Amino acid sequence: MNEIRTRFAPSPTGYLHVGGLRTALYNFLFARKNNGKFILRIEDTDRSRYVEGAVENLIQTLKWCDLFYDEGPDVDGPYGPYIQSQRLEIYREHVEKLVQKGYAYYCFCSPERLAALREEQLKLKVPQIKYDKHCLKLSPQEVQKKLESGEKYVIRLNIPENQTVKFYDIIRGEIEFDTNFIDDQVLLKSDGYPTYHLANVVDDHLMKITHVIRGEEWLSSTPKHILLYEYFGWEKPQFAHLPLLLNPDRSKLSKRQGDVAVEEYRAKGYLKEALINFVALLGWNAGDDREFYYLNELIEKFSLEGVNKSGAVFDLNKLLWLNGEHIRKKSVEDLLSLLKDEIKKSKYASQNFSDEYLKLVISAMQERIDFVHEIITKSYYFFERPISYEEKAIQKNWKQETPEHLNLLVDALEKLDNPSKEDYEKALNSVAEKLQISKGKIIHPLRLALSGTSAGPGIFDLLYTLGKEESIIRIKNAIQNITYKEPKTS
Ligand code: GLU
Repeated sequence: MNEIRTRFAPSPTGYLHVGGLRTALYNFLFARKNNGKFILRIEDTDRSRYVEGAVENLIQTLKWCDLFYDEGPDVDGPYGPYIQSQRLEIYREHVEKLVQKGYAYYCFCSPERLAALREEQLKLKVPQIKYDKHCLKLSPQEVQKKLESGEKYVIRLNIPENQTVKFYDIIRGEIEFDTNFIDDQVLLKSDGYPTYHLANVVDDHLMKITHVIRGEEWLSSTPKHILLYEYFGWEKPQFAHLPLLLNPDRSKLSKRQGDVAVEEYRAKGYLKEALINFVALLGWNAGDDREFYYLNELIEKFSLEGVNKSGAVFDLNKLLWLNGEHIRKKSVEDLLSLLKDEIKKSKYASQNFSDEYLKLVISAMQERIDFVHEIITKSYYFFERPISYEEKAIQKNWKQETPEHLNLLVDALEKLDNPSKEDYEKALNSVAEKLQISKGKIIHPLRLALSGTSAGPGIFDLLYTLGKEESIIRIKNAIQNITYKEPKTS
């Protein structure tokens, strides 16, 4: 059997849409699973949509997601160039062959004529607005004369009437289109650039693509592509059209209802592992209800048979949950480098925290966060001393006798030498015993003194992470700065 070759063929728009990421991912997974090749091809033939830097951004985003391709603009390969705007000659040569065979024709109609034609058809309520093949009636001599006199033209596909175009879609099964509903598609535009349809088919053939895996929105283009393959006399690839992505209200996923750019999710602190995991599940499952996957497991499990036809709902809560899950499964070492990146972006950028200290902070917080940056925002007290103390917690937990209790605890802590978590626990227990009070009476105000808040990691994790010296300073500061409030009597 031939080697399996898939491609991701984005038009660079300036950002990578999550739907595009899913298309890229499924192409990648299918190729990797089958020991095939995954190709990146840039479809940039619509010059009116050109965006500076878009290709570089796209490449960078794919690589950030670990979706490495075997052939593409910056890695090259045997069938390059992989950027369509660098292949214009190839498309022209091919479209001319179609013209010679009568499968395509020159059209010189002015935009005014086309607009009038459209108006008329709209008025007549025709079932399908189409070009009327006016220029197909021109004789070869007339065409030649117009070309020589420099008249503007496009080249159109000559769609036959009253035929059925059939093809098999791996996800949707047999599909049929009536050619009477297909317009004579422009293949070559008046600026000399090919349209998507021509360039896409020519390149898929020349790049030996075996499986075209793309979004459902391209399904209606496929009959045109099928005809092109037939007219060129080429073997067709297999097709698989992926389900639409939907908002929770089942409308088409749109920018208006939230972020659609992968770059946005990245900027918000989502892990690439979580995004890939999430996007993989938008329309695919392995036949069970498993939801947590790493990329290498997806490669192993993926199949096009596991892709559904019906629209896939983009559920942000699930992405959030997966982000937390992936964080919890990460090693402290991995989280350390991510945390350092976050610190660089924060107001603590100029401070020096040792790796050893940051690892303790991570261990204390790993179970309690959904984003790495929450280590800083939720537990800022690991990066600076408390700047204030939660009012409610003072009311509730700071009693008149609290300073005396905490002073005793300080005495006990001072006696400890390089304490472990258990040593802290023993010290606190013995103070509580001596005072004949419950541990809670010490733990709650102690937490407030150490962190300024009433929530956070376990108290002994907190003590251990901050260390003896720092903990003692914070307790003393709190004793000085917190004033006891008489309980409100009604
Ligand atoms: N350039 C098209 C896009 O932007 C590619 C569609 C296809 O894969 O054929 O998605």
